[in-house]
Amino acid sequence: MTERFFARPLIEGQPVELDPSEAHHLQHVMRGRVGDRVTLFDGQGAEAPASVASITRRSVVLQVGPVAHVSREAVQRMTLGVAPPRGHRDRFLVEKAVELGVDRLVWLETSRSVVRYRSSAIEKHSRAVIEASKQCGRNQLMTVEAMPLSSYLETVDAPVRWMAHTTPPATVHRDVPSDAVSIALAVGPEGGFTDEELNAARQSGWQLVSLGPRTLRIETAALALCAKIVLS
Ligand code: SAM
Repeated sequence: MTERFFARPLIEGQPVELDPSEAHHLQHVMRGRVGDRVTLFDGQGAEAPASVASITRRSVVLQVGPVAHVSREAVQRMTLGVAPPRGHRDRFLVEKAVELGVDRLVWLETSRSVVRYRSSAIEKHSRAVIEASKQCGRNQLMTVEAMPLSSYLETVDAPVRWMAHTTPPATVHRDVPSDAVSIALAVGPEGGFTDEELNAARQSGWQLVSLGPRTLRIETAALALCAKIVLS
């Protein structure tokens, strides 16, 4: 795969200008030159070969080649609701969720959450989504948002909905239904979900699932669930 850059709109035969962070990456990190060939993707499923047409201090413009819709998405659509872990582990989780093919990442505000996000943090995560998509070859961008757990439990639309919980009545699920087109997941904060949250989930049709007898960190539990779905 050639070096990939995010740009839109992609129209064959037309020039497209990179946004400042992508231009910086091409010009200063990759040391790109006029005439270099790269791959562009638009985050909505399309990619195209392109050549660098001009580089100035303020802008990088590329000439777009034939545009194709190329899917490298997971077979089942994954929505991952997860209480934010502390420190930089949230960025790690964003990056790995992109690689594993999550479509939608929802930071959950739960009773025991210690981290709550403002829109500036979500914007930083959107940048991390682009960087991970460049690296792993995804052409569709994972979306990132934040909402209260109660709204998530009630509104998320998927035939299979799993809430990870450490103790009974959570049971280990070995099989992901192969006919399910989409799966929603919920992973709790360091202190776990409260009894009220677990009851609300069950009343909304969520199944409690166990990942075994060890207590996993938030990001480990989230990524283990995603990996199980990808490998099923
Ligand atoms: N003391 C908390 C408890 O018992 O719920 C530990 C919470 S754990 C650090 C954070 C979240 O990861 C949990 O709320 C759960 O969603 C998920 N998790 C961690 N280990 C798990 C396991 N073995 N099975 C299922 N979910 C797990």
